[in-house]
Amino acid sequence: MKNFNFITLQVKCPHCGTSLMDGKHKIEDAPSIKLNILLGNKRGSINMSSVYGSYNVNSEIDLISDEIGVFSCPHCRAEITSENLCKTCQAPMAEMLLDMGGKIHFCTRKGCLKHSVEFEDLALAIKKFYDDYDQYTG
Ligand SMILES: [Zn+2]
Ligand SMILES: [Zn+2]
Repeated sequence: MKNFNFITLQVKCPHCGTSLMDGKHKIEDAPSIKLNILLGNKRGSINMSSVYGSYNVNSEIDLISDEIGVFSCPHCRAEITSENLCKTCQAPMAEMLLDMGGKIHFCTRKGCLKHSVEFEDLALAIKKFYDDYDQYTG
């Protein structure tokens, strides 16, 4: 049984298709996912861990528990809010596209960990995960 702690997700903007990966800003030794965030009247950038199942973030602005952030693409500046609402807290879900095909949704409320990953091709996703894993372990 392989350990999936090192699986990283590569994502891109659903509007302009530009990669949201930030290779200069690593979290847990992997490139992070960079987005712009608007929280109340504060604006800044946020880097989220791309490691599957990790909730580590580095944010320029203070994240206040229970507040809902508006996330946008740092390239085209379009908001990435989807039409789906969080089933746990009813906040809007943000949406990003997976490089390998599929989508990630995550809840925009700070402190709510609700998220979902839909792979377009599960077999391909699993194969990619194993390849990634082999890279990490040599
Ligand atoms: Zn964009
Ligand atoms: Zn939520």
